[in-house]
Amino acid sequence: MSFRFDPASFEFHASAVAPVVSRNRRFLMVAASATYRCDQLLCDRHGHVVLANESHLQNIDITVASEHYLGVLNGEDLWVMVYGIGPLPDEYQWLGLRSQLEILSTNEFQLAGRALQIAQWFYDHRYCGRCGQETLQDHIDRAKVCSPCDLRFYPRISPCMIVLVTRGEEVLLAHHQRSSRVMYSTLAGFVEAGESVEECVRREVMEEVGVRVGKLDYFRSQPWPFPGQLMLGFFAEYEAGDIRIDPTEIVDAKWFRYDQLPQTPAPASVAGQLLAHHIERLRQINPIHQE
Ligand SMILES: [Zn+2]
Repeated sequence: MSFRFDPASFEFHASAVAPVVSRNRRFLMVAASATYRCDQLLCDRHGHVVLANESHLQNIDITVASEHYLGVLNGEDLWVMVYGIGPLPDEYQWLGLRSQLEILSTNEFQLAGRALQIAQWFYDHRYCGRCGQETLQDHIDRAKVCSPCDLRFYPRISPCMIVLVTRGEEVLLAHHQRSSRVMYSTLAGFVEAGESVEECVRREVMEEVGVRVGKLDYFRSQPWPFPGQLMLGFFAEYEAGDIRIDPTEIVDAKWFRYDQLPQTPAPASVAGQLLAHHIERLRQINPIHQE
């Protein structure tokens, strides 16, 4: 059962309340490690995420650790089932979501990411971070609750900015220390407490490559579940400064002409989309470069 759907058909449920109406159920399956890390999805032997039905579940003889309602997909109820460690039938394998980046559409990727984040939220807040008492799941909200502290723990989302710095027909791309292969990408960073996203863009660009940026244009956002980022994409116009990299974060950074780019991120990522959007814009201005 391949994981394909019409994105318009997904009805998002922010609440934890499962519907009373009886519908067919579909499942995304997630493995929880011994330390409750939930970053593996059930995939078939070809490496595609499985969107399972009840009969698929019967073939998997591993204890279900928890289950969480996600919403309605193509008229069926979609759940995420969390499994403990155990042997899988030969036709299945556990794989991380990054393996699906170039397989799933943006919407499918987002939904699979949501399943992982909900599973992880459940295990990240088993105990209250303030008093240490065991938490309980709220009856309505997607929240774990500590009664003595009157404290609620929602799925944790960390805002991050991701920015394509532009200078005429050039873009500034960096090979990041954290990247496992030689690939040049946009700059990114976490928003600090008390900081606006725009301030974060200017600060991170200055810290990572020593360049000052002027006008910012918001592009779009993307949930990036590794583990709980919300990427807010921007274009930033170069204003001043020569590239001076922060070697703890960046291996190399350069200006590239938009039609002479190195290996860049997949179109499924907002980094890839920022680049594609900008290149398209420049091609329209300079049709002579069109292939
Ligand atoms: Zn507490």
